Amino acid sequence: MTQSFSELNLAPTLARAVAEMGYESMTPIQAQAIPHVLTGRDVMGAAQTGTGKTAAFSLPLLQRLLKHENASTSPARHPVRALVLLPTRELADQVAEQIKLYAKYTQLRSTVVFGGMDMKPQTAELKKGVEVLVATPGRLLDHIEAKNAVLNQVEYVVLDEADRMLDIGFLPDLQRILSYLPKQRTTLLFSATFSPEIKRLANSYLQDPITVEVARSNATASTVEQHFYRVEDDDKRGVLRQILRERGIKQAFVFVNSKLGCARLARSLERDGLNTTALHGDKSQDERLKALEAFKSGTVDLLVCTDVAARGLDIKDVPAVFNFDVPFNAEDYVHRIGRTGRAGASGLAVSFVGGRDARLVTDIEKLLGRKLDIEALELEADRRPAGRFNDGQRAWQRDGEHNERDDRAAREPRESREPREPRAVAPRPVRAPRPPADPLFEKPYEAAGPADAPAPWEAAQKQPARLSPNIKTRRKVPALFRSPPPMADGHEEAAAPVAEVSGPDGQTG
Ligand code: AMP
Repeated sequence: MTQSFSELNLAPTLARAVAEMGYESMTPIQAQAIPHVLTGRDVMGAAQTGTGKTAAFSLPLLQRLLKHENASTSPARHPVRALVLLPTRELADQVAEQIKLYAKYTQLRSTVVFGGMDMKPQTAELKKGVEVLVATPGRLLDHIEAKNAVLNQVEYVVLDEADRMLDIGFLPDLQRILSYLPKQRTTLLFSATFSPEIKRLANSYLQDPITVEVARSNATASTVEQHFYRVEDDDKRGVLRQILRERGIKQAFVFVNSKLGCARLARSLERDGLNTTALHGDKSQDERLKALEAFKSGTVDLLVCTDVAARGLDIKDVPAVFNFDVPFNAEDYVHRIGRTGRAGASGLAVSFVGGRDARLVTDIEKLLGRKLDIEALELEADRRPAGRFNDGQRAWQRDGEHNERDDRAAREPRESREPREPRAVAPRPVRAPRPPADPLFEKPYEAAGPADAPAPWEAAQKQPARLSPNIKTRRKVPALFRSPPPMADGHEEAAAPVAEVSGPDGQTG
């Protein structure tokens, strides 16, 4: 197997960019996939983010597109030749940035389009002409429908994180997009798993693909200390604060299964005085990028997020990961806790297991191939922080100090008691009267159906179609449709074709 980039005979412009990136040898997925893509074969790759798969598909793809390289300013000379589809805006942005770096010494143009941003600047880029288009499915369809993106000269299509795209519900969008592409093309599909659905997708759209697989990272790093605590929903927030304080944790990811739960938890932790930000699919692109920046720069301590928003993000090590909700997909467990304990550093991964999570835990056990110990946790008396602290200390640390200083007398007798059997939930302490509360916070959180699926009360309000406001829907003539009558906004109730359904985490692209 080829190991060194020099053996690939990449064009000097590409080889120079690779050398500048500081890559010395190929990663396993690159060594396996690049030679096949260079020969134009369809490839089905089992690889996750972090394995170097972006270079595995983009370097050979750029190499093959070099024959179209030209310096003409005419958009007609720069039709879309390669299409890379990804499930989330952040991933699309990340992949597009990498492609730009690899192509920087060539005359090949690339751009990215994803939802949550104004369509106009994207349209202007598309109209100038690009050879490589990176996109999320929903927004790409918007551009196709608006005739900003013409895909009849596409030679390569990459379905990246295909399992995730299917999880989100992008299959109808993908099918529509693929129907616009020429039949004669190279198709590359990358997925963390080869589930039956992925195999079906591959059977429909790939021709005689080569399968490449890198060692699955179902194993979790030995440097991560993992705990599963039995915690009821109402106690989760208190337990989170308690562990943060007791362990002196400075920064952590807190994973939640639904975007509504995510927003609600972030707001209540903020109200508890914790420096928190939320990252989920209902946030605007700008808010999401700001949230990430704030977390990366350390101005925010807790990043409360959903899987869709956090998947594959290039955020380096954090000391701890909390699964406030046990993930619906066992593989997300491995993915989530892989955020901590990187490169030999020690990390902590804590999962709160509620009464209804037994099946999800069993799935994780199957994936990890070992039995998990669900521990009981002694819940401290509720020490709700009084409010925000502005002295630069983490609220939970300050909270601990407060307890030590002010409550020593109360705590000493307790510490000298006989050890007790740990219990899942301590008797409820007498609480001080609560401040006036937003009823939204107080409503108990209920896990939704599939990962990041809209909560029932959200779904009820959801518009049926995923069309961008920039695209006019065709009005039906009321006289022809006695029932149901047209809706006030001009959409027909039953007018949304299946393909128009948006992703549950707002990943309409
Ligand atoms: P990816 O899985 O494509 O998201 O890549 C994960 C990270 O690995 C990115 O920061 C890449 O720049 C980096 N990377 C990709 N290929 C190589 C390589 N051959 N050697 C070292 N780093 C690499």
